[in-house]
Amino acid sequence: MTENCSPEAVFKDIRENYKEITERINEAAIKSGRKYEDIRFMAVTKTVQPIFINYALSLGIDLIGENKVQELISKTESLIPADVEKHIIGHLQTNKVIKAVPLVSVIQSVDSIKLAGEIDRVSEKLQKNTDILLEINIGGEESKTGFPVDGFEEAVCKAAEFKHIRVKGIMTIPPICSSSDEARKFFYKAHKIFVDIADKNIDNIDMNILSMGMSSDYSEAIAEGANLVRVGTALFGRRRY
Ligand SMILES: *Cc1c(COP(=O)(O)O)cnc(C)c1O
Repeated sequence: MTENCSPEAVFKDIRENYKEITERINEAAIKSGRKYEDIRFMAVTKTVQPIFINYALSLGIDLIGENKVQELISKTESLIPADVEKHIIGHLQTNKVIKAVPLVSVIQSVDSIKLAGEIDRVSEKLQKNTDILLEINIGGEESKTGFPVDGFEEAVCKAAEFKHIRVKGIMTIPPICSSSDEARKFFYKAHKIFVDIADKNIDNIDMNILSMGMSSDYSEAIAEGANLVRVGTALFGRRRY
């Protein structure tokens, strides 16, 4: 988005990008034996100005994701509609939980039991239950947040004990892959864990949402069972920090 780009030119890009994305989601959904409607689309709006977010919302997008609570707060009042569904998808510090809980419907990036506990505590105080996803570090990368694959089931069981959070599924970001086959292996692995845990029917654990797939790999993620994809760059263009 260069400065001599009129908003209209950017709107056109967003509109065309969204059309292409929906076509690819549709294809991938059908290939995996599902329908377009089975896949939830999230527009990742970090660094994107409200004018462009609102344009995306006007196209029918009904879910946005932000990494930072503060950035989400600063934009919320400008959004149309202001109550569009919002999720936190970035690492959340425990001291930000108090601001996040009233604002979002799902915290996708719960990566420690300490954080889950704080969400539970704040939710109780605000007399609500908060939906969360547990983030798994599917590639075992040191640079990434998320529960390790090995301790994941134990984490699920611990999270199940909190009375004011409801675990709705899993979120993951695979390592950067050089081929789509390589990416699919990580998505396959995450989907298998998702299904295995669902089969255990743990109290207070619903495995409804499998959030994986971003601009470069959402087709692969859907092919392996994702039902929520988080797309930023492919919709809005390259981010300018
Ligand atoms: C930024 C971000 C995305 C979107 O990434 P793109 O490659 O721009 O689509 C998705 N998920 C998380 C957790 C992110 O931080």
